[in-house]
Amino acid sequence: MSKFYTDSMLGKLARFLRFLGYDTLYRREQTVDEMLEASKQNNRIVVSSSRSIIQLCKKNDIQQIYLKSTEVSEQLKSIKDKFDLNVIYPPINMRCSVCNGSLTKRSKNEVINRILEGTAKNYEEFWECDSCSKIFWLGSHWEDIKKTIAEL
Ligand SMILES: [Zn+2]
Repeated sequence: MSKFYTDSMLGKLARFLRFLGYDTLYRREQTVDEMLEASKQNNRIVVSSSRSIIQLCKKNDIQQIYLKSTEVSEQLKSIKDKFDLNVIYPPINMRCSVCNGSLTKRSKNEVINRILEGTAKNYEEFWECDSCSKIFWLGSHWEDIKKTIAEL
């Protein structure tokens, strides 16, 4: 399964890739050199909208994809075309949108004290991040994601 390193400005894309189960780092305070180094070491595909960064990747033999569009659906399409992205809904191996940690399925009873009453009433399936302990469920924001994914 491909692993990604998305450049700064591509935070939304990073979250989508994580939802789809792809191990994805997102460049924030890291330098370009750090991003390239980490990508080379861990076989990550650099995703960037900067031509100069793409050139650096090519020079250093790092897999990369250049994105022209600022639309996340277009970005995902480009990645899908080049790297055979597995797009399914609901995803099988979602990762944490916040920290890229892997998620473990939890029963409602296990998380009941950590979610709002309305959430408990409306949802049956929950996941917890192994790294930052954030709780996830397929809430209303999923409708957007579902729509975007369906159009790919
Ligand atoms: Zn997390």
